[in-house]
Amino acid sequence: MHVGWKLVAIMVTALIGGAGASEAWGQGRIPDKPKVLVVVAHPDDDAAFSGVLYQITHQLDGVVDLALVTDGSGGFRYSTLVEELHGLALTDEAVARQHLPTIRKQELMAGGAVVGISKYFFFDQLDDAFTQDPEQALTQAWDADWVRQRLVQLMEGGGYDLVLVHVPYAETHGHHKGATILALEAAESLPISERPVVLGGFACVLGEQVFEFSRLDGYPITAASSGGPVARFDRTQTFGFNDRLNFEIIGNWVIAEHKSQGVMQLRMNQLKEECYWSFDLNADGTITEVENLFQRLQVLR
Ligand SMILES: [Zn+2]
Repeated sequence: MHVGWKLVAIMVTALIGGAGASEAWGQGRIPDKPKVLVVVAHPDDDAAFSGVLYQITHQLDGVVDLALVTDGSGGFRYSTLVEELHGLALTDEAVARQHLPTIRKQELMAGGAVVGISKYFFFDQLDDAFTQDPEQALTQAWDADWVRQRLVQLMEGGGYDLVLVHVPYAETHGHHKGATILALEAAESLPISERPVVLGGFACVLGEQVFEFSRLDGYPITAASSGGPVARFDRTQTFGFNDRLNFEIIGNWVIAEHKSQGVMQLRMNQLKEECYWSFDLNADGTITEVENLFQRLQVLR
C-alpha cells in the first residue's frame, strides 16, 4: 500500500457533501446486491477497502471483482522476512522481478478470499519504482492505452454498478494515481446512463481528522467537488457473539496475507476507518445513492 497514509490532516466536520439527488436518476442505480469492480495498482492496495468489500459480499450478497494494473514486482526490498518461506532471495531485484508477481498474486487472492472477491483481472504492467508522478507509469512503464481499453471492456461488459479506486491525492504513489486516472477515463468513455459510479477510497483514521481531496492538479478528470468524503465506513463497528468482533480483524487478516510486503504488517490496527469520495464524472444523484449504500453496509442491529 506504500507510503502516504500519514498525511497532514485537515479537519473536516461534514461527513456528507455535494449536491442533492436527482429524482429521475435515483432509481436503484446501486442495487440491493451491487456488483463492484475494484481497480488498484498494487496487489495489497485493496486492503484499504476491506471493511466495505466484506460487507458488500457478506451483508448485501453482492459481487466484488478486482483488476490489478501492475505485476507487483516492486517494493522487493521489504521482502526480507519471506525469503526463507519461499526459499528465494526476494530482496534481490532480478529474483524479485521473476518471482514476486506470482507470490503477490497468491497473496492478493488469499486476502481476497477473506473479503469475498470473485474474479481477478491481471494486467501485469511493470511495477517499476516509487514516484509521485503518474506520467512515469502512464507514458513509460505501462501500456496505458491497453489498460484503459481493458477497463472499458470490463465496464461495458461486466455489469458493474460501482468501481472503487484509489483516491489520487497528491502524496500518494504515482501508480495509484495512474490506475485511478485510467479507470476514470474508461468510465467517462461510457454514456452516463451506463456508467458505473466511481468512488475513490482511502483507509483513514477514525475521528475528526480526515484529509480533503478535491482534485489532482493537472488531471481535471479526478475532480471530486465535495472536498470531504461522501461516505465513511467505521471498522470499529462491533458484531458477533457478545458484540466482540469488528472489521479491524478482517482488515488485519487481509494485511497478514501480504507477507512479502513487509512493512505493511505494521498497519494492523491502525486503519480505523475507510473514507470514500465521489468523482464529479458520476451522474447527478450519485451522492444520495452512495449514502444509501453505506447505510446498508452498516452492521444490522
Ligand atoms: Zn500501492
